[in-house]
Amino acid sequence: MPIPSIPPSGAPGVPGGLDPEAFAPHVDGGAPDAPDAPAAPAAPASPASPAAPAAPRRAGSAPARPGVGAGVGAAARLVEGAGARAELVRRALDLVPAPLRQGPPAARVAERVGDLADAALRADGFGYRGEDVRGVHEAGARVAEIEPRFSLGDVGAALKRRLPDLVLDTVNLFARLRGRALHEGKWDGRKWTSWNRDVEVHPERYLVPKPPPGARSKAETYGPVADAVRGAGTLRVVGAGHSFNESMSTGGTKARPEGTLLSLDAYDRAERVPAAEAAASYGATGERAERFVRVQAGKRLRDLTDELWDRGLALPVAGSTDAQSLGGLIASDLHGTGRDHAYLSEGLREVTLLKADGGLVTFTKRGSEWATDEAPPRRFEHLPVAGALGTLGVVVEAVLEVDEAYNLEKDVQYVSRAEAERDVDRLLANHDHVSFYYPGGVRDPRTVRLNTWDRTDEKPRWSAPLSRLAHEVSDHAAASFAPGLLSDLGRRDPRTDPLVRALNREGPEVLPAPTAFARRLFYQHDEIEYAIPKSEYRACLDEVMTMLADEEFKTIVEVRFAPDTTDSVLGPGTAGRGKGGAAFIELATPSGQYPEERIAEIHARFDEILRARGGRPHLGKKTPVDGGDMAAIHGEDWRRFQALRREWDPTDRFIPPDNPFLNRIFKG
Ligand SMILES: Cc1cc2nc3c(=O)[nH]c(=O)nc-3n(C[C@H](O)[C@H](O)[C@H](O)COP(=O)(O)OP(=O)(O)OC[C@H]3O[C@@H](n4cnc5c(N)ncnc54)[C@H](O)[C@@H]3O)c2cc1C
Repeated sequence: MPIPSIPPSGAPGVPGGLDPEAFAPHVDGGAPDAPDAPAAPAAPASPASPAAPAAPRRAGSAPARPGVGAGVGAAARLVEGAGARAELVRRALDLVPAPLRQGPPAARVAERVGDLADAALRADGFGYRGEDVRGVHEAGARVAEIEPRFSLGDVGAALKRRLPDLVLDTVNLFARLRGRALHEGKWDGRKWTSWNRDVEVHPERYLVPKPPPGARSKAETYGPVADAVRGAGTLRVVGAGHSFNESMSTGGTKARPEGTLLSLDAYDRAERVPAAEAAASYGATGERAERFVRVQAGKRLRDLTDELWDRGLALPVAGSTDAQSLGGLIASDLHGTGRDHAYLSEGLREVTLLKADGGLVTFTKRGSEWATDEAPPRRFEHLPVAGALGTLGVVVEAVLEVDEAYNLEKDVQYVSRAEAERDVDRLLANHDHVSFYYPGGVRDPRTVRLNTWDRTDEKPRWSAPLSRLAHEVSDHAAASFAPGLLSDLGRRDPRTDPLVRALNREGPEVLPAPTAFARRLFYQHDEIEYAIPKSEYRACLDEVMTMLADEEFKTIVEVRFAPDTTDSVLGPGTAGRGKGGAAFIELATPSGQYPEERIAEIHARFDEILRARGGRPHLGKKTPVDGGDMAAIHGEDWRRFQALRREWDPTDRFIPPDNPFLNRIFKG
């Protein structure tokens, strides 16, 4: 199938050169998430299928994104219209457990939900001033007070600590209905703050270099980034700030700012690689040569997947959110869940890096080997940049091989734990993608949540985006305001319990690939995640669940699976290398539910259990490991990686002395 090209590069004779003049306008500093939907026509009766991709975008015209954002846009407009209040009330009531909605407290619930809708609309009208946010929160808390199961009961004495997170959660919950969840890292002119406000960075300089107009080579295009690197004492890059640790920090405090913080937000261009170039550079032939895209490191995942979709293309994998930048995803070796595909690094064919001396180096994959463009080239079995947290240099652009666009049938079922664990291999054989949520802190839970995704020729229903929105909102509301709900479900018998059976009645939904994995709304939380060889999964999960029950530590345990396909040297998925693939186990704990020290204690126990079974940490999340642990985990790979890092960054420009996380891991 011929694929419409992204407008051609302005760099004739310079393979891989991008046309900087065609770059999208740039916004300084962190902005809230872009609205999901552009000014698009109302939801189409029949969204485009992958077999019939939308027409290429014309200059000046609104992007056609049928099936992805248009329905959500329609939802947003619905909310804005005359029925805004009624719509908000209806959606909020949908989140309230049926016995409450229909039982004796129904009138009180309806009244308080009405107050909440008024507060949310007022807040939205005034742009979320402090008093509006407080109003929304107070109204939300009054709804939550009605019944312990839908309340802050589990939070108890920790309410004060949790209050700021609940305020932001409340704002996000309602902002999401209008397409603007505020969950990205931000620069406020003095300090930079990560997505969940866990990390604050006080740099001496915050730089957002822009590609110079008329640049005709990579060296010219990335000249301003090279100047920033050369002019910095120490430097860290920040993408979307969607990490759970301070690896992006330059060190420093409000009183004594330090180092340079660099954002590549203005480098956000993606273009299709011409087929002849894909053939010459990566050995791709036939139709395959049509599916290579060159993407700059500041590009956000959500924008990339939307643009690919417009051109009849899609990524074979995705994680569970889509706010991250391409540079950040490569730096942490993004994984999703899948039988055949699970890592972004699988699709990388070229990565260009700016080293500490300001020089560019490009890694290219031919066959099964990576080689640099140095003279003589260095050769690698796997890509040392993937999973290296930017300690080898600044990732400036990459080439990805992608798939033709496809739809996924997504199903969510609450199943008995015994059924979930009886034959995981068969489950994985029967579904393209599988994940589980376990209720951590419950001893021997009976019910767990099973999520599956399968490629399908079916088309999404016109209402699919609305249904996805409703799921996001209800998941968010449950996680934020009813943290006991998953535990409560975990104790029920899935065969007989009416609530579980009602939840299971909904059936699968067909969604376009870009929207089927990632969710755009997240409650404020903390994560630790390790991969282990897949064969260790059952025993390891049992130990983790027992530890959490012994510790009475309530958290969501997510389990995902990956084949043996990561192309990274330090990524967590290397735990499954040569071992038939990996399983990932993650703890997601609501922010503010426990003091930091308590979470760190549990993380240390989790690390002990997982590492005893060959576990390897995801460096985009929390981890207590140090350099000695990394040497023990990665052996010769670690030694070679460190030798390369020291050669390319002899003065530790990318490891600021006051960044404890990076020093512990890379220097400890
Ligand atoms: C809600 C949520 C869901 C998530 N889901 C998943 C998931 O499903 N799977 C998964 O694997 N991960 C997941 N993550 C983790 C996340 O994908 C990674 O932490 C990723 O690195 C974040 O990308 P970012 O652009 O926000 O990078 P940042 O958080 O801004 O930076 C991350 C690290 O990368 C470095 N970096 C950023 N850009 C560059 C660059 N251009 N060159 C060199 N270094 C750079 C930074 O200095 C920092 O060390 C999730 C995170 C959140 C908050």
